[in-house]
Amino acid sequence: MHQNKLFQQTRLSLAGWYVMVMGVILSLCSLGFYEAILHAHRITIDRELKSVAKTIHDSLKTVLEKPTQITLAATRILPDFCLVETSCNFTEPQTGVPETANYYLRLLDRSHNLIAVAGLRPKGLQLTQKTPQLQTITANGKRYRQIFLMLHTQDDLEWGYLLVGRSLQDFDEYIKTVTYILLLGLPMGILSIAGASWWLSGKAMRPIYQSYRQIQQFTADAAHELRTPLAAIRATIESTLMLPKLTETEAKETVEIIGRQNQRLSQMVADLLILCRMDSGMEKFPRKQESICLNDLVNDIAEEFGFLAVTTKVKLVSEIRVSQSVEVMGNMEQLYRLVSNLVVNAINYTPPEGEVKIILEVHLNSALIHVKDTGIGIPEKEQKRIFDRFYRVNSDRSRQTGGSGLGLSIALAIAQLHQGNITVQSLPSQGSTFTLKLPFFYHSYKTFT
Ligand code: ADP
Repeated sequence: MHQNKLFQQTRLSLAGWYVMVMGVILSLCSLGFYEAILHAHRITIDRELKSVAKTIHDSLKTVLEKPTQITLAATRILPDFCLVETSCNFTEPQTGVPETANYYLRLLDRSHNLIAVAGLRPKGLQLTQKTPQLQTITANGKRYRQIFLMLHTQDDLEWGYLLVGRSLQDFDEYIKTVTYILLLGLPMGILSIAGASWWLSGKAMRPIYQSYRQIQQFTADAAHELRTPLAAIRATIESTLMLPKLTETEAKETVEIIGRQNQRLSQMVADLLILCRMDSGMEKFPRKQESICLNDLVNDIAEEFGFLAVTTKVKLVSEIRVSQSVEVMGNMEQLYRLVSNLVVNAINYTPPEGEVKIILEVHLNSALIHVKDTGIGIPEKEQKRIFDRFYRVNSDRSRQTGGSGLGLSIALAIAQLHQGNITVQSLPSQGSTFTLKLPFFYHSYKTFT
C-alpha cells in the first residue's frame, strides 16, 4: 500500500478528516467541561457569600441599638474589627492565607460613609450600590465578589449598610490551573487522535487496497491470456500473406487455425463475462430457480462427455449411490456448467487408460457430487490456488488442454451462489477428487426409476 500514491492520499485525507472532526468534538467537550467547572464554582462561591452575609447581618441585628451607632457587642462579633475614626491599616490579601481569611466586611451609614471595617482590607473597593446584588469588582488588579445589604437595628430601624465580600484569588488560581491543563491536554489529545486515525484509516483502506490489487492482477492476467490467441492469429495471417501463392489446403489450414484461436477467445470472453456478472451480483441465485434432479444431471453429463473420454482413451463412469431422486433448488444451466467443468478437467488431466468417476451421494443435509480421477494429481501447495482466476498449476501443460485457468473459479463461484462449496483432495501421480457439496433447499426423495 505504501507505493500507491492514490491510496496514500486517500488515507491521508481520511485521517485528516477524522482528526478534524474529532478535534472539533474534543474542543467542544473541553469547552463544555471548562464552563461546567466555572459555573459550579461560581454558584458555590455565591451561595457561601450570601450565607455568610446573612449570618453576619442577623448577628449584628441582635446587638445594634440605634442607627449608625456601633455597640461593644457588635465589635466582638466581627473579626479584626476597626472603626475608621481610629486609624485602620489597609493591606492587600496575601497569597496562601486560609480561605476563611478571604472575607472582608464594611459597615456604612445610610449616606454610604464608611464607619467600620473587618476582615481583609483591600484598597479601592466600591462602597456604593443601590440594589442588594452580588457583583464582581476589580480593585488593584485583583478580583473580588461582594454583596451589599441593608443593616437593621434590634427594632428593625435602618441602621446603614453591610458590605460582605471575598477575594477571588483562590478561584482565579484554580481556573488558571484548569486552563493550563486543557491547553496542554487538548493538543496532546489531538496528536493522539492523529496517530490513531492514521492507523485506523490504514486499517480501513487495507481490504479496499487488496481488492484493488486483485482487480489489477485480474486485468493483467486477462490481458496476458487474450494476447496469446491474438498473437497466434496475427502470426498466422502474416505468414500466410508472405506466401506468394495460396493453395486451397493452405487457405483451409489458415482459416482453421484462426477459427480455433477465435473459439478460444470467445470462450475466454464468455467466461470473463460470467465471472464479472457474478461479481457484480447480476448473475444471482435464485434467478431462474428450479428444482433440479441431480441424478439426471450426473447421468446427462456422463453421457455428454462419453465421447470426449473415448477420444482421450479415458474410462468415464457415473455412480449413483442413492436409490431416490436427489433434488436441490438452483439454476440448471449453472450447475450443469459447474459439474461439466470438473468432469472436463478430470478427463483432460488423466492420461490414457485412466478412469474418471462421477459419484452422487447424500450426507446429512447435503448432496455430494464427487468427480474422481486417476490422473496426474495436484501438489498440495497448489491445491488452494487452483480456484484463483487464471491460475494453472503448470501453464504450459494446461494450455495444451485449451484451458485458461478460469474453469475452477467459475465452478466455485457457481457453487457459492448455490450456498455450496467445492473441496479437493489430490495426490500427485495418483489422482484427484473434487467434491461439490450442495445443501438441500427443499429436499424431496422420490423413488428413482
Ligand atoms: P484450466 O482451464 O487451465 O483447466 P481450471 O481453473 O479448470 O483451469 O483449473 C486450474 C488448474 O487446476 C488447471 O490448470 C490444472 O493445473 C489444475 N487442475 C484442475 N483439475 C485438475 C484435475 N482433475 N487433475 C489435475 N489438475 C487439475
